[in-house]
Amino acid sequence: MTHTDTPWRATILTLYPEMFPGPLGISLSGDALTRGTWSLEARNIREHGLGRHRAVDDTPAGGGAGMVLRCDVLAAAIDAASPPDDPRPRLLMSPRGRPLTQARVRTLAEGPGALIVCGRFEGVDERVIAGRGLEEVSIGDYVLSGGEIAALVVLDACVRLLPGVMGKVQSGIEESFEGGLLEYPHYTRPRDWEGRAIPDVLSGGNHAAIARWRREQAERLTAERRPDLDGAGQAASRSITGPSRS
Ligand code: SAH
Repeated sequence: MTHTDTPWRATILTLYPEMFPGPLGISLSGDALTRGTWSLEARNIREHGLGRHRAVDDTPAGGGAGMVLRCDVLAAAIDAASPPDDPRPRLLMSPRGRPLTQARVRTLAEGPGALIVCGRFEGVDERVIAGRGLEEVSIGDYVLSGGEIAALVVLDACVRLLPGVMGKVQSGIEESFEGGLLEYPHYTRPRDWEGRAIPDVLSGGNHAAIARWRREQAERLTAERRPDLDGAGQAASRSITGPSRS
């Protein structure tokens, strides 16, 4: 069996396994799931809960609001789902984590899959993060009520990059964030709409001119909207050396 015959394997640890595959069961990711390009196993942390009520959480040490997921319960769930020699990275969805990037998504998609832990309540006992080697990943600077939707975001971003999932390989290469740039604007028919026309260059059939126009648009949008991205300086440096004609 070659690597490409082995499905990209996702295991989710959650208190709400019924949230999976959810939206990933339809469209491209759903078709790929059916074809076996990737596999998804959502396991309930509560199976490892304690006592008659299968308790998974407890009050925070030191006091304060809310509840914290217990490290012993979560560790038991992780150990049952993933043996020590499991090569897959172990992610913990967390607003404190390193923000997810397209580069990280690409690396994840090229690997064997991922184990993803979804937090709830105030979060998880800090000790299980080091104790089980969890990599904290954030999907943005806002707080969700649980890690499930964040995990779906990670999975969606990875699965669409798996071989054969997207129709045209090219569409995975030329889009936002690849090369540190936001993507150029798209247009399709009708040619004129409510007094707005498609830019002439796109209808001219001059492929070099089209490529140049798209590059300039991407650089302009990136400089305007996302000066923090690597590609943002390119529009500025180009205008110093003189812009190319369009
Ligand atoms: N008290 C925590 C927030 C807990 S939110 C804090 O202030 O940092 C509950 C759970 O939702 C988290 O454990 C995490 O798994 C998930 N979550 C919330 N926001 C997230 C984000 N931006 N990215 C990834 N996961 C998030």
